[in-house]
Amino acid sequence: MSIIDKTLEANRDYAKKYDPNLGKPPAPKIAVVTCMDPRLSDLPGILGLPQADIDVIRTGGPAVTEDVLGELVVSTRVLGSREIMLLNHTGCGFTTFTDDDLNAKLAASTGDPSPAPMRFFSYKDPEQNTREQIEKVRSHPWIAKDVPVRGFVFDVETGLLSEIHPVAN
Ligand SMILES: [Zn+2]
Repeated sequence: MSIIDKTLEANRDYAKKYDPNLGKPPAPKIAVVTCMDPRLSDLPGILGLPQADIDVIRTGGPAVTEDVLGELVVSTRVLGSREIMLLNHTGCGFTTFTDDDLNAKLAASTGDPSPAPMRFFSYKDPEQNTREQIEKVRSHPWIAKDVPVRGFVFDVETGLLSEIHPVAN
């Protein structure tokens, strides 16, 4: 059985215990941008916040793309999030290749180069990635100036967060 078919079976059990109150409109307090990496999935545990308080925006890396910026605008301007956390991590899969290399590899292995160049948002240094993200989000005119934008690196060995401070101008 495929993993997805197993999840459908499990979902029927989940629904029996489901709290219908969770179906009410959400009232997130913080928007967290983090990587698709499974080690970042337990945000309520990592951050000590109820699941209902966190708007989670996940991409590989993470990458702060135009789509992510749009989601941060909606989270803070429409849904009510009051702070933004940019959560990178050590040991990210997106540091193990470059966009150029992966494009070349996939064009060769599939025999179809037509999607290239795809943007995978690979990077090398999570601290530098975080600084660039802070700058990108902070400088967006529709992210209110009174919304804190702070960046962190989660250490996958220790489970600890380190704050990354933007370079002073
Ligand atoms: Zn990652």
